[in-house]
Order: sequence, then C-alpha cells, then structure tokens
Amino acid sequence: MKDKEYLIAFNKFLKSMKEKDDTLADDAYECITDLCDVMKIGRIEVSFFDTPSDEYIENNKTKVFYDIGNYDETIYIIRRNNTVDDRTVVYKAWIRESEAAWDDIEKERVNIILDTLFVFNSRSRFIQLADKLLYFDYDMDTYNHKYYMRYLNKLIAKSEISQYTAIYFNLKKFSVVNQQIGRKNGTKVMHSFINTIVSELESGEILARIGGDNFTLIVKKGNQNKILNILNGIGIFMGGSDSERVFVSANAGIYEIPDNSVSSASDVMDRISVALHIARQSDKLDFVYFDDKMLEAKKKANAISAYFPTALKNREFLVYYQPKVTLDGYKLAGAEALCRWKHDGQLIPPFEFISVLERSMDICKLDFYMLDRVCSHLRKWLDEGKKVVRISVNLSRRHLSDMDLTKHILEIIDSHNVPHELIELELTETITDYNFQKLTDTITSLQENGLYASVDDFGVGYSSINLIKEVPWNVLKIDKSLLPSGNGEDKYQNKVMLKYVVAMAQAIGLECVAEGVETPEQIEILRDNCCDFVQGYIFDKPMPVEEFEKRLDNYKYTI
Ligand code: C2E
Ligand code: CA
Ligand code: CA
Repeated sequence: MKDKEYLIAFNKFLKSMKEKDDTLADDAYECITDLCDVMKIGRIEVSFFDTPSDEYIENNKTKVFYDIGNYDETIYIIRRNNTVDDRTVVYKAWIRESEAAWDDIEKERVNIILDTLFVFNSRSRFIQLADKLLYFDYDMDTYNHKYYMRYLNKLIAKSEISQYTAIYFNLKKFSVVNQQIGRKNGTKVMHSFINTIVSELESGEILARIGGDNFTLIVKKGNQNKILNILNGIGIFMGGSDSERVFVSANAGIYEIPDNSVSSASDVMDRISVALHIARQSDKLDFVYFDDKMLEAKKKANAISAYFPTALKNREFLVYYQPKVTLDGYKLAGAEALCRWKHDGQLIPPFEFISVLERSMDICKLDFYMLDRVCSHLRKWLDEGKKVVRISVNLSRRHLSDMDLTKHILEIIDSHNVPHELIELELTETITDYNFQKLTDTITSLQENGLYASVDDFGVGYSSINLIKEVPWNVLKIDKSLLPSGNGEDKYQNKVMLKYVVAMAQAIGLECVAEGVETPEQIEILRDNCCDFVQGYIFDKPMPVEEFEKRLDNYKYTI
C-alpha cells in the first residue's frame, strides 16, 4: 500500500476542493484525479434523491464526479448520506477495469474519500443557500441590491464592465395600478412584468430589485434596446380567467459604461440614480442617459442643501415683491412675494435653488421664513400708516403633509399681529393629485381663518377645471403659457382658452390674475375678457422691499 502517495494525493484533494465555490461543478474533477489514480478509482458518481430513502431508485438527479471511462461495473462502494433539506445523497465509486479488488484498508480509504466529498458538497450547498438568503428578493424571485453591487464589483475587477449598460428603472404610476386592481393583483402584474424582462436576459446579465417598484439591470450593450423596448411599456395579463391587460411601463436612468475606469459599483449606482431622478421629474422623457454634467448638478444641489441652514440663519434670503395691478385704472392691488438668495454678493434666482429645496422639507422652512419676513414688512407699513395691499406668499406642495399647516401659518401671522385678510397663499394644483382631500381640507381651513388662497400656475401641465370647482379657492392665477403671444394657430387657440378660463373663474366667484404679461396687446385681450388683475414685466419686475414701499404711496401705472 502506497501510504505516502495516498497522503500526498489526499492532501492535494483537500486543498484544491477548499478553493472551489461549487464543489459539484465540472472543475472539481481535476482536484480528485491524482487521488483516484492512487486509489484505483475508475468512476465516482453522486446522485440526489428527493425523498429520504435507502433505496437506490432510478428517478434521481445524477452527477458524474470523476470518470476515466473504463471501470469494473461489479466492484464498487456506496455511501449514503442525508442532506439538510431531507433528501438523500448517494456517492458511488467503481474500481478501474482490470485492477485487483480493494483490500479492507483501501475500502476504508475510499469510504473516507466519498464522505469527504459529501462534506465539501454540503458546505458549498450551504454557501449557496446563504447566498440566496442574503442576495435574493423572494417576493419577486430576483436578486437584491446587495447582489447587484457585488456583481458589478466583480465585473469591474475583471475589467469587463465596459461591455455593459447599467439601468435603474422605476415602474410608472404603479401606485395607481395598485389602486385600480388591488395590491395583490398589482404584485402579480409586477412579477409578470419582471419575468418578461428576465426571460430576455442573456448570460452574464442580471436584474435586481432595489425595493418597492425600483429595479436595476446590468445588460450587454447589444441587448439593451430589447430590454428598453419592454421598459417602454407592455400589456400584462392579470392572470386567471381574466383576459384584461394592464399597461406597465417604466422610467429609466441609463448608463452606457464607456470604459473600464469606473472604480466601484457605487459609482455606477450614483450615475444611474441621478439619471433616473431626472427621468422621473421630467414630463417629456421616460428614459434619461447619464452624462457627466448630471453629477456636477448633483454636487451643486448637495452643496445647496448642506449650506441651506446657514443661509437661513444668516438671513441670506430676501423678499422681492412683484406688484399686481388692476386692469381697471392700473392701480396697485397686491403683490407676490418672490424669493431671492443673496450669496457672496450675488443675487441667485429661485430656479437655481427652489427645486433643490423641494426635494426635502427645507422648502417649507424657506416658505415660513418668507411668510415671516412679509408679515414683518406689513406690520411696519401698517405702523407707519401706509396704505397696504394683500401680499401673496408661495407655499410648496410639500406643506400638505403638515397636519397642522393652518396652525403654523397663523402662528407666524399672529406673532406680527397682521390682519389675516392681508395674506394670500399660492399653491399649485394638478390633476395627478391623489392627495386631493388634503388639499381641499387645507384650503377650507385657511379660508375659515380669513386668509386668501390662490391656484398658482393654472394652465401648466394638467390643470382640471373640475378640481378648481371642488376646492374653495379665492383666486385663479393664469400662467403665462395660456396668454396669447406671437402669431399663428396657437395664438388663436390661447385666445379662446383664455376667454373661457376667465369666464369660468368669474362664474364660480374667483378673482382672476394673469401672470407674466409683457405686451400691451396682451393687456388689451385680457381687458376684453374682463380679467381682474395683471402681474407682469409690463408693469413691474419683482423688486426689493425699499422700492416696493414707494409703490404703496398712490403710485400710478401707465403703459
Ligand atoms: P411663480 O410662483 O409662478 O412666480 C412667478 C414667476 O414669474 C416669477 O419668477 C416672476 O419673476 C416671473 N414673472 C413675472 N412676470 C413675468 C413676465 O412678465 N415675464 C416673465 N418671463 N416672467 C415673469 P421667479 O421670481 O423667478 O420665481 C420662479 C418660481 O420660483 C416661482 O414661480 C415659484 O414657483 C418659485 N418661488 C419663488 N419664490 C418662492 C418661495 O418663496 N417659495 C416657493 N415655494 N417657491 C418660490
Ligand atoms: Ca406663485
Ligand atoms: Ca405662477
């Protein structure tokens, strides 16, 4: 008996099996070859049985582990073991053809080899199970975020990442789908949509669920269009006898990875996240392709958010007033308070920071700050005996989640002892408002406290005349996009629209303010249609408080 050779071969077998993740894979073959040579083994086979059983039934899953081709069918050793999931695994080794039968010590050694194989196989099965628990989303039968990141890092390490496109997608309006067909059916539809995508994936491509209706993909560049076509929208059957289909589509952020210089999975994730964010905000684009400028914009946005508390504390935000003027006699009738940020000697316009602040509740702090400044100005003017006008302050829709919004607003106004009727609050309204009841309640309670409420930006996006009727607004602010301008067909259509919008507003008792009025011709059209007030560059641009104070002293406008 060649003890030393056996020990060397066994040691080599142990060492190399330890390095394998999947000990049932074909590459385990080479780990055991030397040992099989020493032990005269011609074939090793491993078979799994779905039930715990001692019987060697045919109906099983068999994997050949080692096979040199010629073995003696009559001489073999069998080891049976129970697996953790209550199955039976059978290891069978045959002796090589024309070799003398194993003696007792040799038999014992073959048994040890077969048991060792079992231990390795069990270990790798455990690793696979743990991986699945750690890296799998059981609701959707897909990988999870952790796995996605690990997989990207592997592709980066192998310098293969540039062959791929990363996609981050969010199902469009899936909460509406859930509302329409119920959560349970909604989940089924989501599952089926995801399966459709997965069935189109090629080897090396994966889909992962990040959470809720957010998913990521990594696909080969050549396959990306096929996948994007599905994300663009398909009809999904609701299942069962129901032949009704639901249309499911997605917003997506797409990063066609240009080279292998990306340093980590989180770099990829950052890029698809900003692109998706832009896609979700956009009315026009469902898919947005990442480009480097987006990260710059994100950096800038982060800097604004980080600096905001300091800016607020330092009172860097200024109130600019833009007068509202009567069409009848061109008299000052009110003003809108608009925010300007004075930072490092520069005046920053709202479009550079409002949308950033709107991503968090910071915007509410700014709005309350503006209201507070406006009230302090009003108090001062009243104390000086000036003739004051109603001032409107913008309220972001974010405030609607504040259960005590009216109370918070009144606290600010009352702390300056300003009559409630001098304050108007401007809120936008959209048809996509599923928080419609909350909006109605808020406006009602503002009104019950003597405050005014206006619908801002009417005519932008999907305003609905019906919703205007349902909420007790006082004022309708017509956006400049509804004003007739230039020439051509659009101008004619806008004229007709404007006529009916103003007539409708007046019929239900709303004051009408036209915003963004720039030309005498527009003034004429508005007058023809009996609009009440105008706010626009034709009379005044937004101006600092000192300048606006002069407008309070019987200022007479002309055009
Ligand atoms: P908005 O509430 O619709 O305000 C009217 C915007 O139209 C103002 O822009 C105003 O300067 C501009 N405008 C007025 N007349 C004309 C005109 O004749 N022609 C043109 N082209 N534009 C005109 P501004 O001040 O840049 O504000 C932009 C937006 O930023 C506002 O739109 C509002 O949505 C937001 N915003 C400004 N201040 C605040 C604030 O304190 N809180 C909140 N939540 N939003 C604010
Ligand atoms: Ca406004
Ligand atoms: Ca507006």
